[in-house]
Amino acid sequence: MLPKLISSVNLPVVVHMSLKCVFCKQPVFGVGGVTVPSMGPAHKNCYEAYRTMRRTFRSIDITELTDNELSDLKDLVLAEENDRRRKSAPDNDDDIELF
Ligand SMILES: [Zn+2]
Repeated sequence: MLPKLISSVNLPVVVHMSLKCVFCKQPVFGVGGVTVPSMGPAHKNCYEAYRTMRRTFRSIDITELTDNELSDLKDLVLAEENDRRRKSAPDNDDDIELF
């Protein structure tokens, strides 16, 4: 188990006052600033907009997947959805495959 004190902090907070956001180039102030690994300081909002644009899920940037990997991921998601649908519908006959 991880110590409780680090559980609420995902990224180190910027402590310097004169750094500029790597996305919008405006100064980043202490509160609301984050350090993006390998990129630099950023506003939390700018970083979140960037993450949305980059289509990341957890730590995976799906725009960096190959076509085959993306296809595999899609199959996994569909299989998981099918599985959950089956489990949440107890009336279904177990012998019938829903494909
Ligand atoms: Zn910014």
